[in-house]
Amino acid sequence: MARVYNFSAGPSVLPEKVLQTAAEEMLEYKTSGQSVMEMSHRSKEYEEIINGCEQLLREVMAIPENYKVLFLQGGASSQFAMVPLNLMNKSRRADFVITGQWATKAYQEAQKFGVCRAIASSKDQTFSYIPKLNPADFDPEADYFHICYNNTIYGTRFHQLPDTGKVPLVADFSSCILSEPINVSDFGVIYAGAQKNMGPAGLTVVIIREDLIGHAQEITPTMFNYSTHAENGSMYNTPPTYAIYICKLVLEWIKNDIGGLAEMKKNNEQKDALLYNFLDQSKMFKGTVVKEDRSLMNIPFVTGNEELDKKFVKEAAAAGFVNLKGHRSVGGMRASIYNAMPVEGVEKLVAFMADFEAKNQ
Ligand SMILES: *Cc1c(COP(=O)(O)O)cnc(C)c1O
Repeated sequence: MARVYNFSAGPSVLPEKVLQTAAEEMLEYKTSGQSVMEMSHRSKEYEEIINGCEQLLREVMAIPENYKVLFLQGGASSQFAMVPLNLMNKSRRADFVITGQWATKAYQEAQKFGVCRAIASSKDQTFSYIPKLNPADFDPEADYFHICYNNTIYGTRFHQLPDTGKVPLVADFSSCILSEPINVSDFGVIYAGAQKNMGPAGLTVVIIREDLIGHAQEITPTMFNYSTHAENGSMYNTPPTYAIYICKLVLEWIKNDIGGLAEMKKNNEQKDALLYNFLDQSKMFKGTVVKEDRSLMNIPFVTGNEELDKKFVKEAAAAGFVNLKGHRSVGGMRASIYNAMPVEGVEKLVAFMADFEAKNQ
């Protein structure tokens, strides 16, 4: 068996230990005589899995009591509609910071349900920075304020949160959840598709302050109402059972093997330093993002020569470093270095890049 170093932006690399456990438990989970995939979601065994997953997430992220954790489907993209349907219920206005494609999609979708303002954007420079925000521009009556915390495609992130006062801050954490400790109570809603840092595709996690639940717009479909899922422990209908099980294994890995999110962050920073330091001294490869806004997870870079970029991506893949092609809107390369990418993977990538640079001067 030969496993590659997978730098995919999502779905992405999972901890090998998680995959091994899943393999061992594939035919029979514990003494249940069946695979988790085959289990009733109402069974006692499965209840332990979903409750265990929630408990672990609460523990690892230090989620306060007054927040609900919801295990949903539909991807982060469904949250672009679910958030306004549930939160736009007073002024029916919301503020958005436009820092990339996902932030734009959240903004555009919410326009179907209320009045949305883009209060700042970095589109003028291909989203290569996080715009400076002035709280005087914020709508104090807005029902929520939306940011994309880590911009997967462009490789920027918020290093400082906007001070939105009483207006709930809603954040798309799809590509950075579990990468470092955060203060959950800074947010009204945190949502994330699981397929970047939590598990396989199919699961979407929502962490929501309780008082924001129960005031959905009248038109809200049952399945898009947070109340439906909060009142039924994410069991109103069949949850994505196997994805939740893998997510639980990932959380066990973070807690027991890594030692929690503070350690996870150190690990991620070590990997980042390796690649960013290399990019900063390289004469061939350049990072595309302003230094102070660099992401901890997604690192885009270019050579400045499209042919050379293509050659690099091709040769890297042949050497076992896959999915390094940049998003079509940025070009060049992107290395997504999620939690499960081992330090060794980045060390070897950097060595490969140095070698490529020496050979292609
Ligand atoms: C991948 C991604 C999405 C889209 O997620 P889906 O689960 O495919 O809907 C949204 N926002 C961000 C920041 C992402 O990285």
